[in-house]
Amino acid sequence: MTTLLINNARIRDDEDLQDIWIEDGLIRKIGLNLSESADRSIDCEGRVVLPGLIEGHIHPDKAFLEERKPNESGTLEEAIKITGELKAEYTYDDVYARSEKVLNWAIAKGTTVMRAHPDVDHIEKLLGVEVMLSLKDAYQDKIDLQIVVFPQEGILKSAGTLTRMKQGIEMGADVVGGCPYNEKTLEDSIRHLELVFDLAEEHKLPLDLHVDFADHTEDPRYLLTERICDMTIERGMQGRVTLGHVTSLGSLEPEEASALFAKIATAGITIMPLPATDVYLNGRNDKKNIRRGMAPVIQMMEQGVNVAFASNNIRNAFTPFGNANLLLIGYLLAETQFMGSAEQQRSVLDMITYNAAKCLGIEETYGIAEGKNADLVIFDSQKLSDVIQDQPLANFVIKAGRVIVEQSVNRAI
Ligand SMILES: [Zn+2]
Repeated sequence: MTTLLINNARIRDDEDLQDIWIEDGLIRKIGLNLSESADRSIDCEGRVVLPGLIEGHIHPDKAFLEERKPNESGTLEEAIKITGELKAEYTYDDVYARSEKVLNWAIAKGTTVMRAHPDVDHIEKLLGVEVMLSLKDAYQDKIDLQIVVFPQEGILKSAGTLTRMKQGIEMGADVVGGCPYNEKTLEDSIRHLELVFDLAEEHKLPLDLHVDFADHTEDPRYLLTERICDMTIERGMQGRVTLGHVTSLGSLEPEEASALFAKIATAGITIMPLPATDVYLNGRNDKKNIRRGMAPVIQMMEQGVNVAFASNNIRNAFTPFGNANLLLIGYLLAETQFMGSAEQQRSVLDMITYNAAKCLGIEETYGIAEGKNADLVIFDSQKLSDVIQDQPLANFVIKAGRVIVEQSVNRAI
């Protein structure tokens, strides 16, 4: 029986510092001046304690490819083309080493849960899924991994992909992915959607799609959210569908957008902006007043949509930046979405904790409350509303009640 006592934790900005007593991987007691004995105690001295951060959307298999071949035009088309060429040269060891580096960086930054989207197609085949399954096992004491079978190259366009997605699920993948914009026609994009919904229904798995990744509304292959809302409701999949990017929604007229956001909320769909990629790839054809290229976060949240955000890519043709630090992405999101008040900055933290937990279907066991999993991160900040602007070090990362990271100096990673 292992016990840990955390003293003087800042859990909320509007209440006194609390103590947290952990036993056998679970939070057993939260209160003032707890007297429970423990194998180890940590005095936070008023530092912020959050539940472990959730990286809800990331591609470890294609991280760190930027140094092999950069994206000269900075467009989505070139990013997909370059990455397609590079992944033809992947080996198991290469993908494992780059993916493992992403996991190590993420854990050091306070992430304890991750949803990874390895490509599944005629080029990478099931290599990315194999690697992520190995890492899920090897890192089970440090991070919970969910694995998505992600058809980056399309399904109708990429021979054998649907079969490989089914094989990936049989191997142990947790989520069905999709990329309907990467098909040749609107009809094919719709067929792509039907196939991934069928797959999710058949295997009783959640669905997590890359959709509507444009900075305009001219191409209907990049304007499928409303159709996806209808399909979600028709198939009774409310609360089990996530849409990443959806940047096209930022180009809708306000009334049209408002009606669609209400529908997204009704369908229980989580929206997952990916700011580091969205801001970098969109707005490329603007000659002046260059657009931010993101889905409108505040409006969606005001209309009751569950919104999270994530890193998406680390140093590749889609996103040449990144160090698997969700607080850095949070700063980018807060800055570009005008989320500057103390309350809004706290809500940015909610997006990578509680909102993301809802998206990943783990809210029952997640959070800082008695009976929840003891996955915690102690940040070197005194207030939750300062975390995004402080960009603090994660002094301690605790997974299932065990200290897995302990650091007082920010190491170059
Ligand atoms: Zn992605």
